[in-house]
Amino acid sequence: MLTYLAKIACVLGLHRYREWTYVAPTVCEQLPVCERCGHFGSEKNRTVHVWGNPVYSAEGVCEKIEACLRCRATKPVVLAIVHVLGESAYISSDSCVMARTCNRCRWIDLESAATYHVFGEWVDAADICHQLRNCRRCGGQEKQDCHDWLSKPYGSICSQCHTTKPTRPGLCYQCGRRAIPGDNVCYSCI
Ligand SMILES: [Zn+2]
Ligand SMILES: [Zn+2]
Ligand SMILES: [Zn+2]
Ligand SMILES: [Zn+2]
Ligand SMILES: [Zn+2]
Ligand SMILES: [Zn+2]
Repeated sequence: MLTYLAKIACVLGLHRYREWTYVAPTVCEQLPVCERCGHFGSEKNRTVHVWGNPVYSAEGVCEKIEACLRCRATKPVVLAIVHVLGESAYISSDSCVMARTCNRCRWIDLESAATYHVFGEWVDAADICHQLRNCRRCGGQEKQDCHDWLSKPYGSICSQCHTTKPTRPGLCYQCGRRAIPGDNVCYSCI
């Protein structure tokens, strides 16, 4: 009797909706289904994806996506990108910056960057008492002083440019007495 009435109710459109059910195996739309006759209700629907594990979105990138195992819909993974960093190496053939680069997407980890020049020999510069050397990779140049120091009782003097330096700052390089302020020599030794 109950079954008969229930059937009548369903025929009249008075279904008893309890569960949400996928409408087809490869879609993610769900509709309420009548627990008695299996009729799908159409007033309401909802979408329930079944997300798989995160996978790379393409070759050569580090962004990941999740794909729905049912309908193949995708969404980006909102977690921070995880790069596959290699060993520290020069970032280009004419650069002296070494850094770790991602093996997948070539992203450069600037936090790890440091400069390593490959200098050649020191050579005399055009101006007296200076030497220069050039980096073989980037052409960058370094300069240094190179005096020809002659020993004096309380310091030394360069035979080329006559730059002086006292053994003790503030004292005359020749006689060891108090030097002229800002100089390395006293009034009597000038
Ligand atoms: Zn029904
Ligand atoms: Zn889906
Ligand atoms: Zn990467
Ligand atoms: Zn260099
Ligand atoms: Zn000099
Ligand atoms: Zn002096």
